[in-house]
Amino acid sequence: MGRCCVINCSSNTQKNKKFSLFTLPKNPIILKEWINILSKVNGKDILLTSRVCELHFNLCVS
Ligand SMILES: [Zn+2]
Repeated sequence: MGRCCVINCSSNTQKNKKFSLFTLPKNPIILKEWINILSKVNGKDILLTSRVCELHFNLCVS
């Protein structure tokens, strides 16, 4: 179990709903893009060790 690094992510509050978590990419170029996207959504910087739910994963890869 874990939680999405985005503070207001709905996946973190839906206890009965299962969702997949993804670790951040190892490629530094892609990682930077993800952090840019996620930091905007989150309202503050995210940690490199963070994981994201499938919702925000899709946001990053789309
Ligand atoms: Zn999320």
